[in-house]
Amino acid sequence: MRYVIFGKTGLTVSELGFGGIPLIRLNSDLAREVLRRAYEKGVTLYDTANMYLDSEEKIGAAFSGMREKVVIASKSIRRDAAGMAKHIETSLRRLKTDYIDLYQLHQVSTEKDWNTIMAPGGAMEALLTAKDKGKIRYIGVTSHSLTMALKLVKTDLFSSVQFPFNFIEIAAKDELHPVAKDRNHGILAMKPFAGGMIDNAEIVFKFLRQHPDVIPIPGFDSVAAVDQVASFYERDIVTTPGDINVMERYRAELGKQFCRRCEYCQPCPNGVLITPAMGYRVIAARMSPSVAVKFSSLFMESVLQCDRCGACLEKCPYDLPIPDMLKAHYDLYEQHRRG
Ligand code: SF4
Ligand code: SF4
Repeated sequence: MRYVIFGKTGLTVSELGFGGIPLIRLNSDLAREVLRRAYEKGVTLYDTANMYLDSEEKIGAAFSGMREKVVIASKSIRRDAAGMAKHIETSLRRLKTDYIDLYQLHQVSTEKDWNTIMAPGGAMEALLTAKDKGKIRYIGVTSHSLTMALKLVKTDLFSSVQFPFNFIEIAAKDELHPVAKDRNHGILAMKPFAGGMIDNAEIVFKFLRQHPDVIPIPGFDSVAAVDQVASFYERDIVTTPGDINVMERYRAELGKQFCRRCEYCQPCPNGVLITPAMGYRVIAARMSPSVAVKFSSLFMESVLQCDRCGACLEKCPYDLPIPDMLKAHYDLYEQHRRG
C-alpha cells in the first residue's frame, strides 16, 4: 500500500480508502473483522455518514484504542445549523472519539441546498463552530452533480470533494479532477464500481490507480473482498490496450443514462423495487434471457405497480427518467419472458 497527502489537509492517507455503507448489513463481529482486515492491509482512511445507520458505531468500535492510527471521514445531510450541530455530536458519540478528521456536507446537489447551507442559521455555521472547537478538523463536501461539485470546489471553502469517479463517468476525471487538484483539494472517489454496474474489479482498480491522488472508497462486506481489492495495491499494475477495450465495451453497454444504485429514489410509494428493476438491461446482457427472467421476476413484476406519480424523479441525483426507463426495461423483460 502506498500513502499520499490528502490535499490541503496535509493528512497522510492510504491510496485506498474504505466506504462504510455495507457495514450496515454486517453483524458487529463481522464488521469489526472486515474493518480490522482493511487496516492490516494498510487502509487508513474510513468514510461513513450520519445516515448510514450503525456504520459509524461499527467503525468506532473497530478502532477503539487506536483512534490516531486512522483518518475518519463522516458526513451529514442536514442543511441547518442546529441539525448539523446535532449530527456532529451524534457522529462523535457513535464513533467514540472527540474529533472527526473530515466532516462533509452530504450530497449538495442543488442551488437551493447550497443557499440554505450558507444562509444565516445554515449548516456552514455549525461546521465552522465545530472546527473552531476542534470537534472536526477539516470540512469537505460530497455531490453527485458535476455542475455543483465544480462550483463548490471553486469556493475554496472546503478541504475535500467526494464525487462518483470511475472509468464510466469520465467527466469527473476530465472536468472535476483538474480543478480540484489545482486548488489542492483532497478527492474521494465514491462509486468506483459505478454503483455495482462494473463487475470486473481488476479493471476498476487499473483505472483508479492511474490517479493515485484520488482515493477510492469502495464498500467492503467481507474479508475476501478486502483481500481482493487490497491485492491491486500490493503490486504495480499496468493498463494494457486490451484493458482499454474492456472499459470501452462497458461504456458502450451502459450508455450515458444508467442507474448508479444509490437508492436515493427509494422507497416508491407504490412498492416498485426501483433500483434492481433499473438494472434489468445490464442483467439481461450478462445472462441468458431465461436466466435473467427467473432471476429478476420479483422486482420486474413490481414495475407494474408504477402509476408514474413522479415522486422518484425529484429524488434521483442523476435526473434519470425513471418511469420511462422502468417501462422500457419491463418491455424487454416481457419480451424475454415470452421467449
Ligand atoms: S413514478 Fe413509479 S416508480 Fe417512481 S415513485 Fe412513482 S410509482 Fe414509484
Ligand atoms: S434511479 Fe437514480 S436515485 Fe434511483 S437508484 Fe438509480 S441513480 Fe439512484
